[in-house]
Amino acid sequence: MKTALITGGARGIGAATARALSEDGYAVAIGYRQSEASAAALAGELRAAGGVAGVYLLDVASTASVTAAVERVTAEFGHIDLLVNNAGISLSGLLTDLSDADWDRLINTDLSGVFRCCRAVLPGMIRRQSGCIINISSIWGMAGAACEVAYSAAKAGVIGLSRALAKEVGPSGIRVNCIAPGVIDTEMNAHLSPADLAALAEETPLGRIGRPEEVAAAVLFLAGAGGEFLAGQVISPNGGLVI
Ligand code: NDP
Repeated sequence: MKTALITGGARGIGAATARALSEDGYAVAIGYRQSEASAAALAGELRAAGGVAGVYLLDVASTASVTAAVERVTAEFGHIDLLVNNAGISLSGLLTDLSDADWDRLINTDLSGVFRCCRAVLPGMIRRQSGCIINISSIWGMAGAACEVAYSAAKAGVIGLSRALAKEVGPSGIRVNCIAPGVIDTEMNAHLSPADLAALAEETPLGRIGRPEEVAAAVLFLAGAGGEFLAGQVISPNGGLVI
């Protein structure tokens, strides 16, 4: 059975990805940091539908937590075929108001978290000479966003990491790619007012913001037969907002 580990899998894009992968026949390991109850409910839902799912405490900001989670998933699932580095936080504000602590927290989660999880799963994938890693970046990692400099920098870093790692581990049969979503309807954007969301939708050529399921569909594509010759690429489901 194909197995997938999704960081931040309890809600938002991560939960939609867990559902899509489970429907596609993957055994799904749902990583969570705070949302334990949502993770457990989601795993129950997937099992009730005939899937295989487990929940794992996995704080991407902590090497010890990542190591322990990957060891547990590997012990229980046998191996990890697919890692989806989805966990992330965002932060708005002027660069001149950004504290060292906030900068460090964001980079440590959104960029170093991807590094830690890749480092933890790769030895198993290299042993098997097979694997797929999908890193969730953002359009702001491609285009940059005012008042989201730390987030944009981290997400641009994720793209750079993915491209370099794709070259490093491609010869071992491992594909590394990125998804850079546009504005997606999740709690990450809950701080935006209806007027702000309407303005973003209007700015988007397709006239709306995206759904988590539309990012999950890109994960399925990259992980599946359609993505077999893709390595080091960035796919951006964004409705045309950034071209
Ligand atoms: P949500 O805020 O809905 O979910 C964030 C997820 O990240 C939660 O599952 C949360 O887990 C997890 N998370 C945060 N910090 C950590 C941590 N230290 N360790 C482990 N998990 C953590 O956001 P989205 O679903 O929208 O975001 C998912 C990804 O997509 C992020 O990387 C985000 O940057 C990216 N993205 C989102 C866009 C959007 O418009 N929504 C656009 C482009 C990219 P828990 O609840 O358990 O703490």
